[in-house]
Amino acid sequence: MASVRSAVRALPRKTAAGYQSSYYPSIPRPRSLSSFSSLSLSSSSHRSSPLSFSPSHAQKRQLATMSTQAAHPALLIPGPIEFDDAVLQSMSHFSESHVGPGFVATFGETLSMLRQLFQTTDPASQPFILSGSGTLGWDLVSANLIEPGEDALVLSTGYFGDSFADCLTTYGAKPTKLEGPIGGRPQFPEIEKALSEKKYKLVTVTHVDTSTGVVSDLKGLVQAVKKVSPETLVIADGVCSVACEEIAFDDWGLDGVITASQKAIGCPAGLSISMFSGRAMETFKNRKSPPASYFASMKNWTPIMQNYEAKKPSYFATPSPQLVHALNTALKQILARPLSERFQKHKEVSDKIKKAITDLGLKIVATKPEDQSHAMTAIYLPEGVQIADVLPKLGSKGVIFAGGLHKAIATKYIRFGHMGVSVTDPNRNDVDKALDALKTSLAECGYKA
Ligand SMILES: *Cc1c(COP(=O)(O)O)cnc(C)c1O
Repeated sequence: MASVRSAVRALPRKTAAGYQSSYYPSIPRPRSLSSFSSLSLSSSSHRSSPLSFSPSHAQKRQLATMSTQAAHPALLIPGPIEFDDAVLQSMSHFSESHVGPGFVATFGETLSMLRQLFQTTDPASQPFILSGSGTLGWDLVSANLIEPGEDALVLSTGYFGDSFADCLTTYGAKPTKLEGPIGGRPQFPEIEKALSEKKYKLVTVTHVDTSTGVVSDLKGLVQAVKKVSPETLVIADGVCSVACEEIAFDDWGLDGVITASQKAIGCPAGLSISMFSGRAMETFKNRKSPPASYFASMKNWTPIMQNYEAKKPSYFATPSPQLVHALNTALKQILARPLSERFQKHKEVSDKIKKAITDLGLKIVATKPEDQSHAMTAIYLPEGVQIADVLPKLGSKGVIFAGGLHKAIATKYIRFGHMGVSVTDPNRNDVDKALDALKTSLAECGYKA
């Protein structure tokens, strides 16, 4: 077993300076970024309770040390994900005015890079970066693109689709939910039938539902909606898909995609990131009632985003300069290579993981191969193996997975997130380590493949 010290790899030092704006020539190294005493082995969300553990000295030696970051287990939950050093180092930026020329340039450039990430060249498309988590994207849609009393068709493939429907209800919209079986998704004939029976202002779909690992077919969905109800907006929750599953915003004809910083984009949590089509922005402008949110109002934020992108200072509410610097670095890294290559890599690694899991005799929650996301895998535990047994065993081998989240099956499965640097950085062996740890941990729990 390699010692922690010898496990410190010499990363090809994409010196942080390489990713900095010219405004800022050098950055200090970060201090310790995690501590063992606060290690948590639980699911990605506050929605389930954490199990804490303090590793022994021997266990600490097994935890991977990543470059300049403090030794820590590989965080392989469906977000937050592992971070690249340069992204983290960008957050050590000195304090600057949110309306000063340096930050305005960084924010403006970051907004423009989102157009590339979402693959939109239509000047009418509008990016937003707001302080908040992925959930704020649901508020943005619900408060601005639909009015009280109007109908929304919510395609749900798990916990997050259901929550989007709850958010729509909060703002007075009337969601109708279409669900697939657990581990599946609603089918097009059913969706087309629903659309032909009632006028829907918008359709929402979870691109990858993080509670089940089911991926939806966005391209096919937009085609189906355009055929039956062309005025209906198509809005995707891409929190667990943007930057790992292909999304061609213009080509596919999407009207909105919302996401967050901490999943496949690989930036610390705290930013709600979204893109809306010219058509969605027109829908907003033509509202009869004002948006029922102050912070999440597109009326308040649209001019701010447009000004920043035009490199003009503007203020509605203070953004987080440090997080925006981190996002800027993450996007530069992502966009330094063709996006198609990144999507392909996530697919290859996901295919390998799915095969290894099936070879172990385990079942994947997303039943059909075409419904399985490339961002994560939800894995049913074998009969008799408990989440509370297997997660600490994985943790002691330096791997953190999440527990179940879908209410109906929550105690029966675990979730393995495979996004970002854990997949794309050839200097990491997070995925192989996780597969080995899973095999050994299940054997320790008494499971024989
Ligand atoms: C994580 C997630 C969310 C919620 O994002 P938060 O950052 O936790 O608010 C919403 N939708 C999906 C699909 C997610 O995976």
